[in-house]
Amino acid sequence: MDDLIDRLQQVVGQNGTVSGPDLAERAVSYWDSSPTEAKVLVRPKSTQEVSDILRVCHERGQAVVIQGGLTGVVEGALAGTDDVILSLEKMTAIESVDLMDGVAVIQAGAILQTVQEQLAEQGFLFPLDLGARGSCTIGGNVATNAGGMNVLRFGMIRNLVLGLEVVLADGTVLSSMNQMLKNNTGYDLKQLFIGSEGTLGIVTRVVVKLFPLPKSRQTVLLATESFDGVVNVLKTMQSDLAGTLSAYEVMWNNYFSSVTVEGAHSSPVSREYPYYVLVEAEGADPDADEQRFQKILEKVFEAGDVIDAVIPKSRAERDALWSIREDFEAALPAYLYDISLPIRSMTTYVDRLEKALTAWRSDASGLVFGHIADGNLHIFVTPFDDGFHHERCNEIVYGCLAGLNGSISAEHGIGLEKKKWLGNTRSEGEIKLMRGLKGLLDPTNLLNPGKVIDRAN
Ligand code: ZN
Repeated sequence: MDDLIDRLQQVVGQNGTVSGPDLAERAVSYWDSSPTEAKVLVRPKSTQEVSDILRVCHERGQAVVIQGGLTGVVEGALAGTDDVILSLEKMTAIESVDLMDGVAVIQAGAILQTVQEQLAEQGFLFPLDLGARGSCTIGGNVATNAGGMNVLRFGMIRNLVLGLEVVLADGTVLSSMNQMLKNNTGYDLKQLFIGSEGTLGIVTRVVVKLFPLPKSRQTVLLATESFDGVVNVLKTMQSDLAGTLSAYEVMWNNYFSSVTVEGAHSSPVSREYPYYVLVEAEGADPDADEQRFQKILEKVFEAGDVIDAVIPKSRAERDALWSIREDFEAALPAYLYDISLPIRSMTTYVDRLEKALTAWRSDASGLVFGHIADGNLHIFVTPFDDGFHHERCNEIVYGCLAGLNGSISAEHGIGLEKKKWLGNTRSEGEIKLMRGLKGLLDPTNLLNPGKVIDRAN
């Protein structure tokens, strides 16, 4: 093993590896403060170094776990004592921004928020946005096909990636750094790696599409009496906002009232309403956009779909509204779920879930919120009981999806945690093809082994 570390240090230098007590000081993830375990963590500074590390590991049949910002919630970056961890934390540069084409080339270890801010300084919007923005990395976002708040307008990161550079298990560098929106020349190989959770290759550099920065923004927190009201308002916003609706975050009462408690967030409206929606629109004409937004608000009030509303009067008030949605510390600890299903089935699902949870134990509940325009609900199931009831909660949350054409993971991915349930959402034929692709690209099962699917048998 010392020989392995020596060989890796020949690639990345003495400071490029972390092991022993220094490694144990690193937490397993944002969610788990246990010490990191692995043979060694290696920090390449370039694609060439990533390639050289994989060649060393490939020669020895050494498994490699890839790490980004460690904000994932499905144990997709979890390493064991026999693994080498490859962290992209030293590859953080925005290498170039093409002002004419609106395209940026970004290294995989760049933090999402830094990317958003640096591109904004150059007049561009990089529209991927999620609560973990301060820690998650572009490479991790690509590897997990991250979604977040603005998916209804801009899509998941899959829709923003024009090109990729990936290092394969044997160290081969696959450069697919396309810069155009259109390029129909055979199979679109980058799509294979987006959302593969580090099992097919290591993303090292990404070409992304940029958008003009918005010049206006309207935000409102609405309350509705019914889920029909929530859906009616969504339809109105989609049709009347001329494509500028950028976020539509729905919070069920049980979520909203759990995070607006003393010591957490204060609620600017009654905490008794059945549903709350945080709506945001971003446009290009401040005066006209504001007038249009006001008119739409009047319309949804008059239609009886909305029963209360708060419009923030400052940036600080707007941030306070968003923190109710994004900072859910007060609702934790809980088992976190991330399902998707058609909007028409959401109330059926939530009713089923509540009944099944209370039938299991009277103190159990599922706090619900999410990006409903994407069919995506996040659910926090309590009580947490230190993992003891996790399996039972999984059975209930996923079991209630039966017959509703839903998915066990809308955006978090599969990792280790949801692997057992993959068959609930994907067919045997699909899983067989996934195994075939894994066998083709990583025949000795060295890249993030055991995540998403088990090797072919
Ligand atoms: Zn989400």
